[in-house]
Amino acid sequence: MAKIIDGKAIAAKVRAEVAEGVRALREQRGIVPGLATILVGNDPGSQVYVRGKHRACKKVGITSFDHRPEPSVTQSELIHLVERLNGDPEVHGVLVQLPLPSHLDAELILDRVRPEKDVDGFHPMNAGRLLTGRAGLRSCTPMGIMRLLSEMKVELEGKRALVIGRSNIVGKPMALLLLEQNATVTIAHSRTRDLPDRVAEADVLVAAVGRPEFVKGEWVKEGAVVIDVGINRCDDGLVGDVAYEAAARRALAITPVPGGVGPMTIATLLSNTLWAARA
Ligand code: NAD
Repeated sequence: MAKIIDGKAIAAKVRAEVAEGVRALREQRGIVPGLATILVGNDPGSQVYVRGKHRACKKVGITSFDHRPEPSVTQSELIHLVERLNGDPEVHGVLVQLPLPSHLDAELILDRVRPEKDVDGFHPMNAGRLLTGRAGLRSCTPMGIMRLLSEMKVELEGKRALVIGRSNIVGKPMALLLLEQNATVTIAHSRTRDLPDRVAEADVLVAAVGRPEFVKGEWVKEGAVVIDVGINRCDDGLVGDVAYEAAARRALAITPVPGGVGPMTIATLLSNTLWAARA
């Protein structure tokens, strides 16, 4: 059976490092990192996520600011709020919780977040920095996964990595981060043919599709490292994108859902906020 990659434990380690970094920044430079979140609307999932982010900030000594404009907020009012937070010296990270209600243009609003405060790493400037191999704020989930891989001492150089999914939030930045570590990277997506064959070749597999148990265990290469990003709410709780039991019989190591990638995303948000405050 595969080793289970304990995202909870590794996230706790990251949080402890962040707490130490926050303490040092406060003592040495008198700076307390601050994260502002903007939540519009009543999406229950988003409310849970935002609450979790504030709780996590508090535990590591990051000040958090909770902005919840009325669901009827206009585009220009929201942009005004973003601009205000961009200019607020106590705020080092600005996070607009997605999805936004359909009367708001998420792309346009996210583009207004100052790249230096874009702790989600979604701004085109930060996406471009990642693409060109420069330092910058990087998307939390893929960064969290890289930390999982390094904690598990997974050698990436020259290895075949397959990323299933090409979203701007997970798939594409994930592929670039694996490439940066000299993996040979393939991106699969909804138009990919012969997906089982591509999976069978992968030494490292990252599934970010959003379909319960979409990747079959029999597809997985013996000895592969399997990272399951999927969070699918089903009748029997949260289910990943990988058929866990069957995949775990073939993999060398695998992330569970929940308790794998999920905890790393928030932990990385905290470390991005610290990074932004230091910068
Ligand atoms: P998305 O819907 O933006 O992207 C899904 C991707 O899957 C697309 O790029 C699409 O091309 C690909 N896809 C769809 N059908 C496919 C098929 N039949 N074969 C191959 N590829 C196919 O989703 P996302 O935002 O990238 O998120 C993916 C999953 O990860 C979701 O379940 C989401 O909830 C989860 N997620 C988890 C975390 C976390 O912290 N664990 C963070 C972000 C997203």
